[in-house]
Amino acid sequence: MYALADCNNFFVSCERVFRPELNGRPVVVLSNNDGCAVSRSNEAKALGIRMGDPFFKFRDIAERNQVAVFSSNFALYGDMSRRVQEVLRGFAPSLEQYSIDEAFLDLSGMEGVDFDAYAKEISAACRRLTTIPVSVGIAPTKTLAKIASKLCKQYPRLQGGCYMHRPEDIGKVLRKYPVEDVWGIGRRSVKKLETMGVKTAWDYIRLPETTVRKLFMLPGFRTWKELQGTPCIGFEDYIEPKQSICVSRSFAHEITQLPELSQQVANFAEGAVAKLRKQGSLALEMAVFAMTNRFKESAPQTTACAYAALPEATADHKAIILAAVEACRKLYRPAFAYKKAGVVITRLVQADHYTPSLFADQEAAQRDQRLSRAIDSIHASFGPGALLFGAQGDGTIHMARNHQSPHYTTLWQDLPKVKVQ
Ligand SMILES: [Mg+2]
Repeated sequence: MYALADCNNFFVSCERVFRPELNGRPVVVLSNNDGCAVSRSNEAKALGIRMGDPFFKFRDIAERNQVAVFSSNFALYGDMSRRVQEVLRGFAPSLEQYSIDEAFLDLSGMEGVDFDAYAKEISAACRRLTTIPVSVGIAPTKTLAKIASKLCKQYPRLQGGCYMHRPEDIGKVLRKYPVEDVWGIGRRSVKKLETMGVKTAWDYIRLPETTVRKLFMLPGFRTWKELQGTPCIGFEDYIEPKQSICVSRSFAHEITQLPELSQQVANFAEGAVAKLRKQGSLALEMAVFAMTNRFKESAPQTTACAYAALPEATADHKAIILAAVEACRKLYRPAFAYKKAGVVITRLVQADHYTPSLFADQEAAQRDQRLSRAIDSIHASFGPGALLFGAQGDGTIHMARNHQSPHYTTLWQDLPKVKVQ
C-alpha cells in the first residue's frame, strides 16, 4: 500500500498557522512579484477566484469581500513543508517528497494495520504538530492514493484520511472521477480522450490495452494499469541530482544601470551555488540571461544571453559569482531597461566522480574550498544572506512583495511574541 499526504491549500494554510483569525475567511497567496493567485482558501475559491488569475483582475472582488491577500513567503512555506515531512516520516519506513506540499509513503511490510484509521491518524498528527490540514489517501497504487487523498478534501466526514482498496469501491469512485484530474494524464491526452468520448477514469480503464498503448504510449499505459490496482510507478526516495540549475526572477521595476543589474545577477548566482552544493555537484559551464519587458511594446526589446566556461568544474561561491558578474558585463547594453534576468549553471558532474586537472593550482583550489565551506556553515547558522560578497550589494532581490507576512519560523526578529498575563 502507498499513502499520499497532500497539504490542503498549502500556502494559505501556512499563512493561517500564525493568523488563526483568517480561518473561515477568504485568503489568497500571490506568485512572485504579486503576479497571480497560486493558492486559494476554499472561501476564495467560492468567490470565483481561479488558480493563476492575475491579481489586477480580481483586485475588485478581493477588496469588496475583504479577501486577505499575501505575497508568497517561501521561507515560511519551505520550513512548514519540512515540519510536515518530519511528522510523516514517523509513520512509514520511507518517504518520497513529491512537491513542496505532497509526499508519498511506502507502507509495504505494514500489512495487518487498520489503514483507514492509520490515514486519519497521520492527518490528525500533522494537524496537531504543525497546524497544517493534510489529506491522506491510502491505496494499492500511487495513482489511486492520489485519488483517495482528493476524496478527503471533497468529503469532510472522512476526517482527512481515506483508505481505498476494495475493487467495488474503487470502481464507484472512478465512475465519477474526471479523467483530466487523474495524475499522469496530460493536457494533450485530455484532448485526444475528449474526441473519443472518454470522460471519467472509469471510461479510461475500459479502453482496450492496445488502444491505450498506441495512443498514450508507456506513461499512459502505466496510468491505465495503476488505476486498475497494479503498481507500475516506482517509489523514489532517492532524488536524481539535477542536470542544470536555473535561478531567475522578474524585477519589481526595470533596471537600466549595470551595477544594479550585476548585483541582482550575483544574487541569482549565489542562489544557484547553494542549490548546486546541496546536491553535491560541480558545474563546468554557466550562462546569464537578461530580457526587457515584452509587454512594453514601445520600448526597445532584447533577450540577451552570455556564456562563461568555468576553468575547472567547481561549486565555489566565489568562482561562480565572479563568472556570473563577468557574463553580465558582457551582455549588458545601456539602451535597454531590463525586466528579468537569470543564471543557469549547466554541465553538472557529481563532485565525488570528478578528477581535477593535473595542472590546476591545487593549493588555490583547496583554499577556495575552505572558504566555500566556511560560507556554508555561516549560512547554515545565521541564514542564507548572513554573509555576502561585495558583488551582491545588500543581497536583496528587487521583487514586488507588498503583502508579505513575517518569516515566523526562520528569522529571529520575526518570531511571534506570546504575552502571558
Ligand atoms: Mg496540496
